[in-house]
Amino acid sequence: MSPHRAAPKRAVKAKFEKPRGFGTLNPATPIAELHCHLGGSVTPAIMWGIAHAQGIRLPSKDYWAFRKMITAGSKRTRSFNGYLDLFHWTELIQSSPIAVERSVYEVVAGAYRKNHITTMELRFNPMKRNRNGEQDLDHIIAAAIRGADRAALEYPVKPGIILILDREFTLRQNEIIVEKAIAWASRGIVGIDIAGRESANFKVAEYKRMFRAARKAGLGITVHTGESGPVSEMLEVVKQLEPDRIGHGVKAAGDTKTMKVLAERKIVLEICPTSNLMTKVVSDWEEFRQIFMRLREGKVRYAIGTDGPEMLQTYIRDELAALGRHGILSVAEQEAAAATSIKSSFVKGAAAVAIPRSEGAAPRVSREES
Ligand SMILES: [Zn+2]
Repeated sequence: MSPHRAAPKRAVKAKFEKPRGFGTLNPATPIAELHCHLGGSVTPAIMWGIAHAQGIRLPSKDYWAFRKMITAGSKRTRSFNGYLDLFHWTELIQSSPIAVERSVYEVVAGAYRKNHITTMELRFNPMKRNRNGEQDLDHIIAAAIRGADRAALEYPVKPGIILILDREFTLRQNEIIVEKAIAWASRGIVGIDIAGRESANFKVAEYKRMFRAARKAGLGITVHTGESGPVSEMLEVVKQLEPDRIGHGVKAAGDTKTMKVLAERKIVLEICPTSNLMTKVVSDWEEFRQIFMRLREGKVRYAIGTDGPEMLQTYIRDELAALGRHGILSVAEQEAAAATSIKSSFVKGAAAVAIPRSEGAAPRVSREES
């Protein structure tokens, strides 16, 4: 390519210079992690230990190959279904009460140590961790709560567990998960969610009654929608299931009517930028710039999450920093998103927990391995 051709490229780059007010959020700003899947949140070295402790036969005896197997980044994982495939191994390794307890404990405690997260909502599907019914669901759920309790005894954190239903499950299977969430609502289960691959069997309207029962029991409602599926589903989810929050929901930015309904009902979107880029739901940061611009215009509330900090190798403060670095969210907007995360948390008293201020507390993100 001739040097003459290269010139306009530089000019385009200059146009995207960061405007004033864009930068990095003060690390002392409290944030609640609202969107975090247990299967994508445990440090690979800990997963490796749990797998070996349980005698699970892994496809490789090499740690680094294992790490690659449960981490997004390769070409293989750069699609929505490719990303979900990564959960095959993490869910299998977490399929026992001991593994679930350790996993939850490590995620909640680690988020506090590494990222100053004092309010941590962690979600998982208990029926994907009971070896197809071989293990008792109550034992799996109780183990998750024990793990959260242990972390809360050691650190000043307020964890909450969300149970996930799956689009590919039968209505009855999902109903059992809701029944369990209601039964354990007073013990640390704070909400329910629906996730998983798009499925022709999944009909939003069929879930109306059970979601109403969950709400009556005091559970928070969040649903993955407006991510890989059509935007039209978002309105149906809002109408039938009355969610407090929506997982991802970035497709709303392309539809004025959906944004209007979200704004009217004060529904909070849990936006996980790196995840959306990895799954190709959003093509690049420029598209995110447009998305946030539209949401700003539509007065739609949002919080920022990670989806799976270890699997995607990003922490919540990394996500905010990237949005600041790309000139997409100003520091004031990052602060607003952080405040929204705490206000819309399903964990009661989330705002009352102070973040660490002692000298030894790391001022920024640190990884246990990199
Ligand atoms: Zn998710």
